[in-house]
Amino acid sequence: MKRIGVLTSGGDAPGMNCAIRAVVRKAIFFGLDVTGIQRGYSGLINGELREMNLSSVADIIHRGGTILRTARSETFRTPEGRAKAAEHLREMGVEGLVIIGGDGSFRGARLLSNEHGIKFIGVPGTIDNDIPCTDYCIGFDTAVNNVVDAINKIRDTATSHERTYVVEVMGRNSGFIALEAGLAGGAESILIPEMKTNLDDVIEKLYRGLQRGKLHSIIVVAEGAGSGIDVGNVIKEKTGLDTRVTILGHIQRGGTPTSFDRVIASRMGAMAVDLLIEGKDRKMVGVVSGELKDFDIDYALSREKTIDKSVYELAGILAI
Ligand code: ADP
Repeated sequence: MKRIGVLTSGGDAPGMNCAIRAVVRKAIFFGLDVTGIQRGYSGLINGELREMNLSSVADIIHRGGTILRTARSETFRTPEGRAKAAEHLREMGVEGLVIIGGDGSFRGARLLSNEHGIKFIGVPGTIDNDIPCTDYCIGFDTAVNNVVDAINKIRDTATSHERTYVVEVMGRNSGFIALEAGLAGGAESILIPEMKTNLDDVIEKLYRGLQRGKLHSIIVVAEGAGSGIDVGNVIKEKTGLDTRVTILGHIQRGGTPTSFDRVIASRMGAMAVDLLIEGKDRKMVGVVSGELKDFDIDYALSREKTIDKSVYELAGILAI
């Protein structure tokens, strides 16, 4: 293998830059040439390819987002779009791709492989942490810390004004961010799509808290479990308590990556290069119990990632 390509696709995630840096520098360390593809599959179709060198990835380890930019591409979902993408890779002499993104990006890469034989290794990058075969995706830890930081701040006002706060967090159809940030932030209740929650139970808990002198309550709602505004309205209507809603939105995705994200992103990016050099193809890198592993992409995409119910139960017990 002489040349590899790297791109970021789907939603940006803090730590993606660390993965890009690792891919570029590890590949150059092994004497490979590296092409950086701008704006994910969209840039691949438009021919936005550029040479990467050691300096291209200097001074980015601490930056959120992705220097390669990211995008969503409807054209890539068509066979014609993918044919164009493959043509640009062949023109540049790219023999293998590292795709840093979520499961949608991996599905796209799989089609590019099926139809045009383009080799690829997937590196899981999404704050939602919803990709199977890995305990952590790049960006998740930073997002959770961003949410916990926000909860800490909201707590000051919640206590001072003796209010109930509903905090809506991201996660698409999964509750990983809500669960981890809810436990770490000491939320009274956590609503996630994986577990059915009766709002009457949430309200009962609120009253119990009030009875023993709690000054405030924080309820974390994963976006996939419903709208924070709706939850806030129901609580307000049923209890008459001063209830406010905060939707954290994209501040969860930004900012400097945590050291944890930097380390797993660096390790995963470097491993993706190792796998390509070994001649591996259609794999996804994952971290399981602290160890880096590679999984067949078909296997990974056929699995479903589940939350740890014991963590959910623990959060409930501790917030009693
Ligand atoms: P993520 O990678 O974070 O899950 P998306 O689901 O938006 O993000 O996917 C990123 C891009 O990957 C899409 O804009 C599209 O170009 C491509 N993609 C996603 N799913 C498919 C699919 N089933 N077939 C072809 N391309 C896909």
